[in-house]
Amino acid sequence: MDYAGMNTMQKTIIHKLSEKTNRNYFYIKRDDLIDFSFGGNKARKAEKFKEDIVAKKADAIVTYGSSESNHCRVIANMARSLGLKCYIISPEEKYEETYNSKMIRMFGARIIKVPIDEVSTTIDNLLERFKKECKPYFIPGGGHGNFGTDAYVDAYNEIKEYEVEHDFTFDYIFLASGTGTTQAGLICGQILNKDFDRKIIGISIARNKEKGEGVIIESIRDYLCKDINDYLHCVNFNDEYTLSGYNKHNDKILNVIKKVLLKDGIALNTTYTGKAYYGMLEYIKKNNIMDKNILFLNTGGLPLFFDDMKGLIK
Ligand SMILES: *Cc1c(COP(=O)(O)O)cnc(C)c1O
Repeated sequence: MDYAGMNTMQKTIIHKLSEKTNRNYFYIKRDDLIDFSFGGNKARKAEKFKEDIVAKKADAIVTYGSSESNHCRVIANMARSLGLKCYIISPEEKYEETYNSKMIRMFGARIIKVPIDEVSTTIDNLLERFKKECKPYFIPGGGHGNFGTDAYVDAYNEIKEYEVEHDFTFDYIFLASGTGTTQAGLICGQILNKDFDRKIIGISIARNKEKGEGVIIESIRDYLCKDINDYLHCVNFNDEYTLSGYNKHNDKILNVIKKVLLKDGIALNTTYTGKAYYGMLEYIKKNNIMDKNILFLNTGGLPLFFDDMKGLIK
């Protein structure tokens, strides 16, 4: 049941950026270049789920996400290429056509729109019903859970390899943080490698600090299966640049996206990577961080860039 495209254990490249803010040295890890379904952190996580799906011989995948969800696009694509049915539960509020939602339909996934407060009972009922007729596999929204965390422990180890090869260390790692699974994976990697000299900073794309950190701590505990009270200082989830919510952005973010595309040829987006890159620069200025090695994790979401085009050219 193998198929082309999605190789397990793909490594992604790290390279320098032209960015010079506060005389720091900026690098980027290109998870946007993972070669399945436009890449991104959801593709890296999906590879881990895929192994389990194939091992369990599931014949249908059920997951959850909004109309612009990168996760749902990758999962719908994966289900199609594996020849499995795919059901996506989406909150009906704010449902909009996006490049991702169009592709999800193209991949043949069934989209079930329900009011947001009925999402979890809908999922339970669907799974209950399916269990009588087939072997459904549930993937939590965003690829949350230990498989998703594990995918980013791998990414952390790739970062370590790069450091050893190039004989230097990154003082900071910045990334866009949503459910926090990606960040939790990186922090687990940090804890397992006992690398406490560097800071991993998640720039929240929507959640407040309390909620965001709570979920990350829970994910780390779940993955490491131990008391993590000694490591709570590793969890830095910054909610100063959310601009009051998911998908909210401003001209400063649009300008940052334009700058990175024009100078480095890399397409960020307003919902995740552009917001995080902007947040990173603001954080660096605000905290007077200078002369450091800084790594930005590009978590992908390329189709969102095309949804953003309307705002980028005025
Ligand atoms: C989902 C997503 C994130 C957030 O990842 P989490 O693991 O949920 O924190 C960041 N960037 C992009 C492009 C995403 O699609």
